[in-house]
Amino acid sequence: MLAKRFSVRQYVEGIREGNRSVLSRGISLVESELESDRTLANELIQCLLPYTGKALRIGVSGIPGVGKSTFINSFGGLLIAKGHHPAVLTVDPSSSKTKGSILADKTRMETLSHHPNAYVRPSPAGPSLGGISAKTRETMLLCEAAGFDRILVETVGVGQSETAVKQMVDVFLLLLITGAGDELQGIKRGIMEWADIFVINKADGTNTAEADKMKQTLQTVLHLIHPTERGWEPAVKTCSSLNGKGMDDLLESLESLVFKLKENGHFEQTRITQQHQWLEDHIAFLLQKKFNEDKAVEKAKQSAMKDLNQEKSNPIRLAEDLVRLFFEK
Ligand code: GDP
Repeated sequence: MLAKRFSVRQYVEGIREGNRSVLSRGISLVESELESDRTLANELIQCLLPYTGKALRIGVSGIPGVGKSTFINSFGGLLIAKGHHPAVLTVDPSSSKTKGSILADKTRMETLSHHPNAYVRPSPAGPSLGGISAKTRETMLLCEAAGFDRILVETVGVGQSETAVKQMVDVFLLLLITGAGDELQGIKRGIMEWADIFVINKADGTNTAEADKMKQTLQTVLHLIHPTERGWEPAVKTCSSLNGKGMDDLLESLESLVFKLKENGHFEQTRITQQHQWLEDHIAFLLQKKFNEDKAVEKAKQSAMKDLNQEKSNPIRLAEDLVRLFFEK
């Protein structure tokens, strides 16, 4: 059954008043695959645009088990204590398969999910990462219009989704743990160049010394690499999401980074580049969607696949034929 929809005005007013239930329904509208909902969602975003863009957008990534949810719960608690209103969103590439979120599990974010100044939204499901990240970007705008001034976008560190999140946030935190191996945690995979702050989590109990050692090694390595094009040598911090140690220091480092980026113009420049990228991504997403939905193309594709299975044809030529068929119909 179709969910009852409000008018655009009702959504705008409810969201601007910070009404959670209207915000959640607005996000469901944005996430909907129905054409009629898309039209309404576009109108809604257009009306809300003047109230967006003022929040700080923070990406948080790391391998499963590194402590992302626990970290966000603890760090978000500190943000609230400092007078902020954090919202937590996720880009979860697995959600389309599991039909449910493995991230931003509300029960793992006890403090935030029950706090009146915070908002936790589980990951949207979707057929593709492109679709999911487009929805997350729009959800972010809705949250900003509702008055949330710190948006934490969580993703599991599996490559593509990190890139998608990097394209929608102002600063990026990569969570690490000792003993998990550099390769696995993406340290050798070019992440060095775009993580703004490396956070070694679980720096508590018997692991404290090991975490300090890892921090020193990482700092030495980072020092050898040139500062990023944003004029900032990535910081390395240790913390414990369980007992909160190191969180204040991390927040200070984050704030000084943001100050610097605003001062040297990279903050604004990154936002503009992201807007351009968003446009490009969405054109590609819409074209791909239309292509996949086309019945004639689908039929031709099935027969092309049979040819391929018998090694009778060349995939590149078949792809070109299919695209031609789509545009020339
Ligand atoms: P995620 O998969 O990255 O979201 O990780 P979780 O937040 O679910 O944490 C995975 C496990 O690590 C849980 O058992 C947490 O209690 C534990 N954990 C998270 N942060 C810390 C920490 O700072 N110190 C310790 N000792 N354990 C932690």
